[in-house]
Amino acid sequence: MSLPIDFMNRRLDGLERRGLRRKLTQLEGGAAPWIEIEGRRLLNLSSNNYLGLAGHPDLAAAMATAADDEGCGSGSSRLIAGTSHLHEALESRFAAFKGMESGLLFTSGYTANLGVIPSLVGAGDLVLGDELNHASLIDGCRLSRAEFRSYPHADVGALRDALASTAGGTGTRRRLVVTDTVFSMEGDEAPLTEIAEACSRYDAMLMVDEAHATGCLGPGGRGLVAELQLESQVTASMSTLSKALGGLGALVTGPALLRDYLINTSRSFTFTTALPAPVVAAGLAALDLLERDLWRVQRLQDNAAQLRRGLRDAGFNISGSTTQIVPVLVGESRRALDFAAALRAEGVFAVAVRPPSVPMGAARVRATVMATHSADDIVLAIDAFRRVGASLGMVA
Ligand SMILES: *Cc1c(COP(=O)(O)O)cnc(C)c1O
Repeated sequence: MSLPIDFMNRRLDGLERRGLRRKLTQLEGGAAPWIEIEGRRLLNLSSNNYLGLAGHPDLAAAMATAADDEGCGSGSSRLIAGTSHLHEALESRFAAFKGMESGLLFTSGYTANLGVIPSLVGAGDLVLGDELNHASLIDGCRLSRAEFRSYPHADVGALRDALASTAGGTGTRRRLVVTDTVFSMEGDEAPLTEIAEACSRYDAMLMVDEAHATGCLGPGGRGLVAELQLESQVTASMSTLSKALGGLGALVTGPALLRDYLINTSRSFTFTTALPAPVVAAGLAALDLLERDLWRVQRLQDNAAQLRRGLRDAGFNISGSTTQIVPVLVGESRRALDFAAALRAEGVFAVAVRPPSVPMGAARVRATVMATHSADDIVLAIDAFRRVGASLGMVA
């Protein structure tokens, strides 16, 4: 007897032909600035461990203590028997860090976005989202069953028009605008002050995803909302603990009412097991470090500026990057794969990002820097990009 799964081969073959098939790469060294793949040492420009906290001994010690004290699994969902003092401590501390009234912990950024959006809007409502929003926001919008309209990337005029043309109507129709604050494949920032103004003018809720902003920019790494002092204009702000904070989990912060509302309505909060105590303790330890050592955020920003300058001066198109995420636009998927392979031969690990993560024809090699890279590491990276770019005829 054979299983009826030949469609899998056909689908994978189709992806292969278009240069879109994906493979897992096993690496040693965790999320460190230098890693090993197949015995070769490589400069890691592919990690979201922006502040280097994933390898910090304080996080490891906090996890070990929490595992000893409270065990390795939480044993239950938050609403049944899975809430400990650690969960609530992290929620209130993180809310204070973000300058917001409440916080609620989810098991990941993906599940947070999947849970929050359908709690805020439903069938008959309207969601407007930037066309380059992260897949988790898109999936949250789909799951909500609200009408979804995307607006061109960072185009506040188009957003305003969409809000104006859908104003009035049935009085009970809720409207929500969702956007990344730092875009994960572009490394640019949303025009958030203008977006917030448009939302308040047209009575729409604003939800932001600070996955790549929290720990990376704004005062003390508090994110773009804090930098622009828009805390009171945001209905929900999502921050992951999995990127700059070096662990796992996500916090949704907002007005006091939001936490209670999400506890009562968000299915991805309700129907899953609470994060284990060690993971929550690591989040608290990361927050301690973030509040104590301001140099990490500064180092990240300095390294990012050095890489952007170097790649731009070398003649690469780094799109609108203003952050630690620096895309080098290549175009075709196969060419992006060739670029990444050549970089790896030069000792640099930066991956090709292809559709559907980016639009068709906009494949790129995406470099991310960490606070734990040295200035010499960045010079090495720029030199490698330059050599590969020249060999592929992309730069002089
Ligand atoms: C990584 C990411 C997420 C998902 O967060 P996880 O904690 O990894 O699940 C959500 N939104 C954006 C913009 C991201 O980059």
